[in-house]
Amino acid sequence: MSEGSGDATPAKGKAATPLKKPKPPQSRTALVRQARRINRELAEVYPYAHPELDFENPFQLLVATVMSAQTTDLRVNQTTPALFAKYPTPEDLAAANPEEIEELIRPTGFFRAKTKSIMGLSAALRDDFGGEVPGRIEDLVKLPGVGRKTAFVVLGNAFGVPGITVDTHFGRLVRRWKWTEETDPDKVEAAVGALFPKSEWTMLSHRVIFHGRRICHSRKPACGACPIAPLCPSYGEGETDPEKAKKLLKYEMGGAPGQRLKPPPGYPGRPAPPLGAAG
Ligand code: SF4
Repeated sequence: MSEGSGDATPAKGKAATPLKKPKPPQSRTALVRQARRINRELAEVYPYAHPELDFENPFQLLVATVMSAQTTDLRVNQTTPALFAKYPTPEDLAAANPEEIEELIRPTGFFRAKTKSIMGLSAALRDDFGGEVPGRIEDLVKLPGVGRKTAFVVLGNAFGVPGITVDTHFGRLVRRWKWTEETDPDKVEAAVGALFPKSEWTMLSHRVIFHGRRICHSRKPACGACPIAPLCPSYGEGETDPEKAKKLLKYEMGGAPGQRLKPPPGYPGRPAPPLGAAG
């Protein structure tokens, strides 16, 4: 990750002068309109939004998503190539020596619990699903270590089933935009899902998470360099000075070891621009 490597391009210069904080939407219609405008704006800013975990098949995505708890996607991407080279199938992973798996995935943290989960889910795939990842939410959530969030990531990105991924970024941003006040992920998912057509759910999730990682950070949102600022009722929660805000931007546009340079084949986004490229 390189901090501040992007210039003002993603913000398109829109926040060059201090803005007045927009009021939260007052009616349901105004809320839907504001939410969809923000989504359209994010689609322009992040046309390359995609899942940032590397994977080549549903099994790899499932394992990588379980491993991504409490760590970064980048760290997982640096760890999974060796794991999948040695254990490419659920059968291989289920039959592995747990100590070897622990050693391989140690850098992702919580490696004992994660080893238990990924070996357990591999055994369940082998025994109950013919070694294939099932494409139904009700089957996925029964696998060890797999909750609704993980299941939706897999369904949305390996099976094309629309889904909203409520991670820490997504929850924080939609509350800043006043789309909901809920904090429970299932309730956030329902509230936000009701504002958009299903066909938008998966890409919306990626765009919002991209924005949370790059601009609208938890502690220091870069409001003064944010393309959403004219629409955001929380404008001013972070740094509004454009020059200072620019220094807070974080870009992960590819180029670092383990980082995905292009989304999976057929993914409805565009490849990320190379590190340091404008826009
Ligand atoms: S960075 Fe600031 S203006 Fe932009 S979405 Fe976050 S809180 Fe709103």
